[in-house]
Amino acid sequence: MSTLRFQALKETLNRKPIKIEEPARRSEIFSSNVFNETIMRQFLTKEAYENVIEAMRTGKKIDRNVADHISTGMKEWAISKGVTHYTHWFQPLTGATAEKHDAFFEPLGEGLAIEKFGGGQLVQQEPDASSFPNGGIRNTFEARGYTAWDPTSPAFIWGTTLCIPTIFVSYTGEALDNKTPLLRALQAADQAATDVAKYFDKNVKKVNATLGWEQEYFLIDSALVASRPDIQLTGRTLLGHSPAKGQQLDDHYFGSIPSRAIAFMMDLEIECMKLGIPVKTRHNEVAPNQFELAPIFEEANLAVDHNSLIMDVMKKVGERHNLSVLMHEKPFAGINGSGKHNNWSLATDTGVNLLSPGSTPMKNLQFLTFFVNTIKAVYDNEELLRAAIASASNDHRLGANEAPPAIISVFIGSQLTKVLDELEKVTNGKLSPQEKTELKLNVVGKIPEILLDNTDRNRTSSFAFTGNKFEFRAVGSLANCAGAMTVLNSIVAKQLKDFKVEVDKLIKDKKMKKDDAIFNVLRDYIKKSKKIRFEGDGYGDAWEKEAKKRGLSNNRTTPQALKAQVSKKTIALYKELGVMNEVEIEARHEIELEEYAMRIQIEGRILGDIARNHVIPTAIRYQNILIKNVTGLKSIYGEEYTRHAKEQLEIIESISAHIASINSNVNAMIEARKVANKIEDAEKRAFAYCDDVKPFFEEIRYHCDKLELLVDDELWPLTKYRELLFTR
Ligand code: ADP
Ligand code: MG
Repeated sequence: MSTLRFQALKETLNRKPIKIEEPARRSEIFSSNVFNETIMRQFLTKEAYENVIEAMRTGKKIDRNVADHISTGMKEWAISKGVTHYTHWFQPLTGATAEKHDAFFEPLGEGLAIEKFGGGQLVQQEPDASSFPNGGIRNTFEARGYTAWDPTSPAFIWGTTLCIPTIFVSYTGEALDNKTPLLRALQAADQAATDVAKYFDKNVKKVNATLGWEQEYFLIDSALVASRPDIQLTGRTLLGHSPAKGQQLDDHYFGSIPSRAIAFMMDLEIECMKLGIPVKTRHNEVAPNQFELAPIFEEANLAVDHNSLIMDVMKKVGERHNLSVLMHEKPFAGINGSGKHNNWSLATDTGVNLLSPGSTPMKNLQFLTFFVNTIKAVYDNEELLRAAIASASNDHRLGANEAPPAIISVFIGSQLTKVLDELEKVTNGKLSPQEKTELKLNVVGKIPEILLDNTDRNRTSSFAFTGNKFEFRAVGSLANCAGAMTVLNSIVAKQLKDFKVEVDKLIKDKKMKKDDAIFNVLRDYIKKSKKIRFEGDGYGDAWEKEAKKRGLSNNRTTPQALKAQVSKKTIALYKELGVMNEVEIEARHEIELEEYAMRIQIEGRILGDIARNHVIPTAIRYQNILIKNVTGLKSIYGEEYTRHAKEQLEIIESISAHIASINSNVNAMIEARKVANKIEDAEKRAFAYCDDVKPFFEEIRYHCDKLELLVDDELWPLTKYRELLFTR
């Protein structure tokens, strides 16, 4: 009998939900572990407080001696909460977060010691950067990396450690992390959007991008995961036959949450409250044991930090409940995978959501301006957006037969489509007073009412407008949102910049009124970007054909998709906005290609091992049982035995055939890996893994899964899909 599998099942069946103590009111613990403005007032001098607030709002540099005051205040607050260590908390290009803890404790000699945390330690540190991916940047420049405090994201306490959000850059200034380009992109978006928003309201001084992410994940008992080397090491199942029942009955989505899962969620939410992460929504997702979590949206940089943090916190809280949190985009074949919808908008410092229609025609013209510019930005940069969400794991969703497809398109609903169709008819040049009145009354003026009863909810679109924000749905559940947010905010920044130039030119050269000029430019944009708009079923084959006709890209694999990251257009875009220079762009491209190849390499090795060490020996064991049975029958019935052993003989043969196929495919896969490993060029190597190694996965899996159906259940060593998905 296969002990590990059955032990794991027994353990899982015996588990009870952990009882979670709810605080009287969650609002009372909200942000209690965050060095927020209220706490700053308590622990900082007035001068230090004002400096931090200014740095947060305007990005102004903090003076060294002020930094000393701030660090002392932070330390006192942290110690009062039982903290012993501090760390710079950053997001290297591994996609995860990194931390190295240092104690406050410092010996003074002669048996004396103090707790110390100086301004220098707050502002800047030098982690050993050589072990983080750098795409050759550090070799080229022979420079070390350092982390530098990002005051726009507040310090927080996790466990007994004070965590200080930082950027991570080389000494020559090249970004080595996900946060630095994001901050630069957000600044570019702020500047461009503020300039455009001033057409409508002179008082606007700052525009913040906002992000509300929705995190999907699976919860699987940790004992069951421990019985599956593939899940343990790659985050997904590399084999396993589909269960008789999957999600076809739709009985999990929004259903009552299983009791161990709800205990996990409560525990997690309480931790989130303390960390100031405003989590709000929790529910079952479509697949069995799949769930979703979403906070209220925040300023994008903070929201990205919070998502990175929560992915870490989820794993730790999961441990307390003996649950493994699978964030992989496709842990199980045949049922839904996980994504991370990124809801995005732009908000002014005067409190206006620029993608929300308003109560006056002018406010709606503002809405239309940002709405149409975003669509145009997506159209002009659809390949770069696709590149932003490319990864080995997300390829299982995007390129495969699951939505959203690898094609980027924008859904806006039939009502707004009608509005854009009307606007397309606007006169070229100055508008007559009648035309303007007509537009303002019947087209622009009606938008809020339209949106109120807009029930369009296209779930198959990769980029959908949902009333007062765009929802970028193709982002992977495992991804750091910074990638998608850097691209989206950059392309919108560039677009708004160009828009401003065009409108100003019409005002100056053609002596047009401001709103005439805006209507004229929007009309052109609507026409030019029409091909990206798609209202139909994004999952169907028809859309693939149609998209091809329209000239939209359909980059199904990561190596293919990543090409757009280093195109001339992308380099020019990032250079113009100051988001990344060529060295940084090339480095990132190389890192992502390398990561891709490594992930496929690891999966290939593990699949090969499991197939050879688990599946084949088990199949042989069962085959031997059958052979014994057949020989037994022969000894009883003599030559007549075939009458009784016909089925057994067939199974024996089919087992042999599957074993042979597995073995030859594993051998061929190993050979393909050897060839790929010898390729120096990162892109060519990634393509080799994609085109020559990966195709073996399905072949090998097919035969293993067939054996799973043939072999005695008692012998099968790998916990089955049915058990992984339905034991709680
Ligand atoms: P769903 O898309 O699942 O129907 P909602 O439309 O209610 O759910 O909202 C989904 C997410 O959109 C939430 O996480 C919310 O915080 C976020 N969101 C709402 N408004 C904005 C905004 N202006 N900017 C960014 N995110 C937003
Ligand atoms: Mg959503």
